Amino acid sequence: MSAVDARNLTKSYRRKHGTTVAVDDVSLVAAEGEILGILGPNGAGKTTTVEMVAGVRRPDGGSVRVAGLDPFTERAAVRRVLGVQLQSGYLHGALTVRELAHLYRSFYGAGHDPDDLVTTLGLDEQRDVRYEKLSGGQQQRVAIVLALVGDPRVVVLDELTTGLDPQARRQVWGVVERLRDDGVTVLLVSHLMEEVERLCDRVTLLDGGRVVAHDTPAGLVAGAGLDQRVRFRVAARLSPGLLDRVPGVDGVEVRGEQVVVTGHGELLQEVSTALVRAGVVATETRLERATLDDAFLALTGRPLGDDPTRATTEEAA
Ligand code: ADP
Ligand code: MG
Repeated sequence: MSAVDARNLTKSYRRKHGTTVAVDDVSLVAAEGEILGILGPNGAGKTTTVEMVAGVRRPDGGSVRVAGLDPFTERAAVRRVLGVQLQSGYLHGALTVRELAHLYRSFYGAGHDPDDLVTTLGLDEQRDVRYEKLSGGQQQRVAIVLALVGDPRVVVLDELTTGLDPQARRQVWGVVERLRDDGVTVLLVSHLMEEVERLCDRVTLLDGGRVVAHDTPAGLVAGAGLDQRVRFRVAARLSPGLLDRVPGVDGVEVRGEQVVVTGHGELLQEVSTALVRAGVVATETRLERATLDDAFLALTGRPLGDDPTRATTEEAA
């Protein structure tokens, strides 16, 4: 049995001028203990999808099972296994962090020590501060405390690090990694490819309310048929044709001392070996791999959005 099994979900919103199809035949499956990323640009339908999985928004069509249970007809049972942090979550602003954590803990028969979780999420100093007085990032962390306090088997986290500074972001990623160690299933909604590449076992890419692809992060990049690039500098001119027949090499571009080799497979190793054999001294050698951003661009023709960082793996050859 899959921890999350959503089939053919559809949802339209009625607006003053016509309707918006927010989710158009989306299916999602997360195995037990899996961290499934739901990645896509703003407006892709990510939030609407997980709201339907969490049972807070009724689908127009399709079915949802969480741990085999229907979130609409078996609400009470689902609440015992599912923890949810939603973008639009409403919390009682007049309660303090501590009060909220203990209140939510009281909803569950078993669970974590609320004070410990508050500490884990770095909210010790805000313990007695009212929710409404917290910064956006602190409110975000409170929402995560409340999603986890019942020790759920399945957790939905929607944009969990939005508004957090880089240090807090890394702390929260650590929390998700601990969930993975405990075998908790996580649906992780994000538009940050770095977050998804780091945390997720599998990723469902959404665009315009539809699933564009579903695979491991590495599989998505490989499946998009994207090249690797090896860059290096040479002091002396590279003799023409030297790298042309090296396995994996598709192209060689020489710009003065800079050489850029595009290709596939074990490109870095093959190129390095060929250079050593030819007695060429290469410096500043770098391997650039395509990222999920590149994969998304290749699949949809559009960039994913907000996160401009392009991960570059630097490896000495
Ligand atoms: P994402 O989380 O990927 O940014 P959403 O699920 O929030 O996407 O939104 C998908 C589409 O549905 C967008 O076009 C958005 O404007 C629209 N939408 C979302 N919520 C509502 C709502 N409550 N009423 C009307 N339209 C909505
Ligand atoms: Mg959203």
